[in-house]
Amino acid sequence: MAALEFHQFPTLSDNYGVLIHDPESGGTASVDAPDAADVRNALAEKGWVLSHILVTHHHWDHVQGIGELKSETGCRVIGPADEADKIETLDETVADGDTFQFAGETVACISTPGHTLGMINFHFTKSGVVFTGDTLFALGCGRIFEGDAKMMWASMQKLMQLPPETIVYCGHEYTQANAKFALSIDPDNAKLVIRAAQIDALRADGKPTLPTTIGVELETNPFLRSADAGIRRVLGMEKSSDGDVFAEIRKRKDNA
Ligand code: ZN
Ligand code: FE
Repeated sequence: MAALEFHQFPTLSDNYGVLIHDPESGGTASVDAPDAADVRNALAEKGWVLSHILVTHHHWDHVQGIGELKSETGCRVIGPADEADKIETLDETVADGDTFQFAGETVACISTPGHTLGMINFHFTKSGVVFTGDTLFALGCGRIFEGDAKMMWASMQKLMQLPPETIVYCGHEYTQANAKFALSIDPDNAKLVIRAAQIDALRADGKPTLPTTIGVELETNPFLRSADAGIRRVLGMEKSSDGDVFAEIRKRKDNA
């Protein structure tokens, strides 16, 4: 079986779209549909035909293109069961632990509530790729709009258990601002210092900082590093639980 191809493109002000293409069957999935025209252009550029949309969560910048793309292509729309009332165009709903097949590959659905209550992340188990929506970002995590910090920390822990080589695509290019905040609470992390400089160079060239990997995030993303002694020292939280440290980091980022 030929390997799946992944094509990432910038859309809206700071979103990313990703197309997943199976050269064998010709099937192509779009992860979310931030903007119908941008998804259509990306498909045309690659010469691919849309067969699926995989929806992470109900926010407008992830779903607004679905209706148009679906009526144009008749594609199958798969998304979170817990947000089916907010996303009217779903053909198939999925919940935590569900799997479905795309191009002969098992896609495992991971529920990661916090940013929204129904958020689903899609793990392409054979390709080793996960789509984290607005849950995990490069050097960051999504704002907690609908859930609470405890819920978001549990979601982070699910993603932390994926193999470190797992490639991570997410919904937004927020990495440079995230790096600045990360350095403020983890200044002695040599890997973070190096990565922040790489990110500045990429952005100066107008290049994306994504995808990333679970392993790189485990080493440098403060939202996955609440157990780290250096971060705890900076926060004065040496004796707190990992979850409480996570909540404090999220609060500081909100107010940064
Ligand atoms: Zn969102
Ligand atoms: Fe978003």
